[in-house]
Amino acid sequence: MEFAELTATYQRDHQPDWPEASEVRRARGALARAAPLVQASDIRRLQARLAEPAFLLQAGDCAETFADNTRTSVANRVSLLRAMSDAIEARSGRPVVTVGRIAGQYAKPRSAPTERRAGLALPSYFGDAVNGADFTAAARTPDPRNLVRAHEESARTLARLAGSGVFSSHEALLLDYERPQTRRATDEGRLYDHSAHLLWIGERTRSLTGPHIDFAAEIANPVAVKIGPSATPTVLTGLHAVLNPDNVPGRLAFIFRMGRHRAYDLVYAMLSRILAEGWVDRVVCDPMHGNTVVSPAGVKTRVVTAVEDEVRAFFSACNDTGVTPGGIHLEVSGDDVTECVATRVDDGCLAVNYRSACDPRLNPEQASSLAQLVGALLVPHGDFGPRREMAMSGR
Ligand code: PEP
Ligand code: MN
Repeated sequence: MEFAELTATYQRDHQPDWPEASEVRRARGALARAAPLVQASDIRRLQARLAEPAFLLQAGDCAETFADNTRTSVANRVSLLRAMSDAIEARSGRPVVTVGRIAGQYAKPRSAPTERRAGLALPSYFGDAVNGADFTAAARTPDPRNLVRAHEESARTLARLAGSGVFSSHEALLLDYERPQTRRATDEGRLYDHSAHLLWIGERTRSLTGPHIDFAAEIANPVAVKIGPSATPTVLTGLHAVLNPDNVPGRLAFIFRMGRHRAYDLVYAMLSRILAEGWVDRVVCDPMHGNTVVSPAGVKTRVVTAVEDEVRAFFSACNDTGVTPGGIHLEVSGDDVTECVATRVDDGCLAVNYRSACDPRLNPEQASSLAQLVGALLVPHGDFGPRREMAMSGR
């Protein structure tokens, strides 16, 4: 394929340019025959929890890596998720449903299909399910065998998660990974994607005419869609019609990632539409992806105070419209990384322990204090439910 053509294909639906079609068929076959990573009964259990007046904590790595899939790393991630959900619950009195960006978060959409360093252009790093992060032609060439490895690694992570009360989720980006794991339940006949309990569709692939929303519409798992500042309330109308036509509680969540400056106005407009239409869809705040900045040395980072600003803007918009805040979506690490900065960008701080394979994550201390803030902001919303009805009936 010519370079221009490759770019066009990638930009259309963010699927890798696998070099070997026969290898992709083999990988898909292996995934189709593999044991389900999660059971339909557990997917339905999550759906039921999300249909209740509970708050969703969804957090984890921007990109998991095979190398970090160790017993210690998973234990650290789980203990952070538990500490965060306990903090939110204790502070707000509202039950928390905990979902990790874990056990399958191995694929990344990238703004550019190629990365250039010192005159050399190679494919970007698309996540361990596609290629390797090292800047060599060998590592960066997409290899469909990574799809099978992603499944194996996810099974290992899930075994370590057993009994933790943490559900799994990842971005449903690679259709060569998701489709083969999608099977019809023999009891009630619906299609379930057995790769995770919850799947979300990213900001770059949420087009109503693209393959990802088609896929999300087919499956019975709870689904979420990222909504960035380019979206209008009409985009929500289209997504709701396709993804939750029967307005079922627990089925669909909108994850707003607007950036701190515009978050209040943009979320307010979205919530007004949701309220006016009477949709039961969950509204979630991702205060990370609209607040990424680049340091003078060229390192991607986020300023914690900016993240907090977007959280406050989201909760204010919920308060002012009367829509119940439904959750928080964060990128966090269970280890003491230095990827997000407290108040101002400082390359010295970032250099200490920057390990992210993709976007900068909050470390446990930063994540725990953000959980405290979320718990505190949730307190006025203790009367879950009636607020929305009151607002809807105009009282
Ligand atoms: C992500 O969640 O890592 C991501 C790429 O987010 P978005 O689709 O919102 O840009
Ligand atoms: Mn990210």
